[in-house]
Amino acid sequence: MEKKLIYLCAINNIESGICPEDCSFCTQSTKHKANITRYSKKSIQAVVQEAKIAKKNKAVGYCLVTAGARMDDEKVEYISKIAREIKKTIDINLIACNGMATYEQLKQIKKAGVDSYNHNLESSRSYYQNICTTHSWEERFQTCLYIKKAGLNLCTGGIFGMGEDIKDRDELIQNIKELEPKSTAINFFHPNDALPIPKNSLSIDEAFGIIKTIKDSLKKGTKIMVAGGREYMFKDKQYQIFDYGANSIVIGDYLTTLGTTVSKELSTIEKLGFDISQDCH
Ligand code: SF4
Repeated sequence: MEKKLIYLCAINNIESGICPEDCSFCTQSTKHKANITRYSKKSIQAVVQEAKIAKKNKAVGYCLVTAGARMDDEKVEYISKIAREIKKTIDINLIACNGMATYEQLKQIKKAGVDSYNHNLESSRSYYQNICTTHSWEERFQTCLYIKKAGLNLCTGGIFGMGEDIKDRDELIQNIKELEPKSTAINFFHPNDALPIPKNSLSIDEAFGIIKTIKDSLKKGTKIMVAGGREYMFKDKQYQIFDYGANSIVIGDYLTTLGTTVSKELSTIEKLGFDISQDCH
């Protein structure tokens, strides 16, 4: 029997925690005063070096994440410079995740070498007012449409366990389906004392059910990534996500929380009988 292929993606928080928005799930909002490391743009050299490490760690995707609600000219320039440098020497699916963006900005970074753009809807349209008041869900959805129009591969998803009910979850899954993304990022809320959302509201079984529903709802071939909150949500059952339809995970650390050690992750995946994909197709 053919082994199931697992796709690994590394994320790099290239600008961290300097965001004036009020997203209630996010430690990078300055409003919540979470105890995290905050810094402005990393050097291009460091980001390229970290891309080489990601490739060595078998990541097929490398995601450049900046804090903040939107792209601006400075970020377009910064991401474009990084993209050009990385693409000179490293064969990797380059993903940008820099918030809401215009069609023109997305075209520019694509031209510089970015392959994909991650922009999560975060929640359903109906629930969004409960988790963010400083920008609109509609603007997020529109960005996803621009991403596709600009010819970038769309990765979109959301966060589960923020107190939403089943109706909200179904609505979000329907919204993701409408966008027909190339891949989806399923995140599970990771609580932090500084955040207004007190706890993750899901049971493990509900979380597994969400992965299965998403897998069954999206087009065949869509990559199903379980991203942030995997270890927190599933603990010693975390690799069972692959039985429920996930085929992609984040390798290494997350934006502001630590992930599983890379060597341990790689050996566990192989020990469980999965193959790690060598490319993103
Ligand atoms: S806009 Fe992004 S970085 Fe800023 S608080 Fe919201 S999720 Fe966090």
